[in-house]
Amino acid sequence: MEFRDLKKQYQMHRQEIDNAIKTVVNEAHFISGPQVTQLEEKLAAYVGVKHCIACANGTDALQLTLMAWGIAAGDAVFVPDFTFFSSGEVVPLVGASPVFVDIDADTYNISPESLERAIEYVIQNTDLKPRVIVAVDLFGQPADYEKIRRIADKYDLLVLEDAAQGFGGRVGERRACSFGDISITSFFPAKPLGCYGDGGAVFTDSDEWADLLRSLHVHGKGGDKYDNIRIGLNSRLDTLQAAVLLAKLDFLEEELVRCDQIAAEYTRQLAGAVKVPVIREGMRSAWAQYTICLESTKEREYLMAFLKEAGIPTAVYYKKPMHLQQAFAGHLIEAVPCVQTEDICGRCVSLPMHPYLEEEQIEAVCKQVTRLRK
Ligand SMILES: *Cc1c(COP(=O)(O)O)cnc(C)c1O
Repeated sequence: MEFRDLKKQYQMHRQEIDNAIKTVVNEAHFISGPQVTQLEEKLAAYVGVKHCIACANGTDALQLTLMAWGIAAGDAVFVPDFTFFSSGEVVPLVGASPVFVDIDADTYNISPESLERAIEYVIQNTDLKPRVIVAVDLFGQPADYEKIRRIADKYDLLVLEDAAQGFGGRVGERRACSFGDISITSFFPAKPLGCYGDGGAVFTDSDEWADLLRSLHVHGKGGDKYDNIRIGLNSRLDTLQAAVLLAKLDFLEEELVRCDQIAAEYTRQLAGAVKVPVIREGMRSAWAQYTICLESTKEREYLMAFLKEAGIPTAVYYKKPMHLQQAFAGHLIEAVPCVQTEDICGRCVSLPMHPYLEEEQIEAVCKQVTRLRK
């Protein structure tokens, strides 16, 4: 069994993907080919925002956003304590200070209460200027943007939606990547919409920020690549990746529907035995992960070994809270305790989750997990 079965996805859609790749190779327009613009237009329409700028990966997408906003030394950026390293890594990279915030015990997304406490702490106890809230759509479920937006308005902060795991998710009819002042996603192969290498994108309704992002991601270009008006990055999405994504976008919706069915089946079978994911009313998760919680670290290690024995792969996202990552030592503002994060890091484990899981495989996983509890 595969944790995320990219081979099966390719087998199911070989024709479309092969054709897309062949076209690029034949036309040999490998950088900034027409497929890149076509993808940007399609993604912007799918998400329902005005601009999409494709770039080299999700981490660059986050960094480009902070650069476009001029975030720098003296600025505080609020980041959930429970996320992939990138969400916080980009903050010291532009010279600013990350402030890690605790999570909601059920959704594992940033806790609005902890966020507001952290902002108040920074205002009252530091010389930093609060500027940005990074809200992560963890495991595929959008964060609580209603409350986050209220807090952002109250303190005059910008919202950066990190939907690296959330592309295809929704709140009501509104799609992920439309909730931030600027939003980003990643096309890393294992993400909900993955390419065949690295890739990412930035989304915004602002013409001004879109122009800045377009310049920043190609060496700070002015009129053209050889007219450089600011310091930028080399962060383009290559044409081959754009072509693969265009082909995959055609069946994304189908995959998301299937993931919802699989998650519902997992939950039906596991709900009494372990803590299953909580999806808030009106939300649709993109199911980047199906993450359960055990009673203790010991029980988790035991279950993982036990599943491995049965040929079932698992993974722990994430074992270590951001504030305990060595890389942030020296950059840390410890504004609020992150007790929920510390607790969940010790007990969570993610099960195989992808649209090509078969009934018998779901059954097999559930049987082994529930057996542990008997
Ligand atoms: C994967 C991921 C990123 C980074 O994306 P890359 O394309 O790998 O750079 C950022 N944030 C979160 C939450 C992620 O899961």
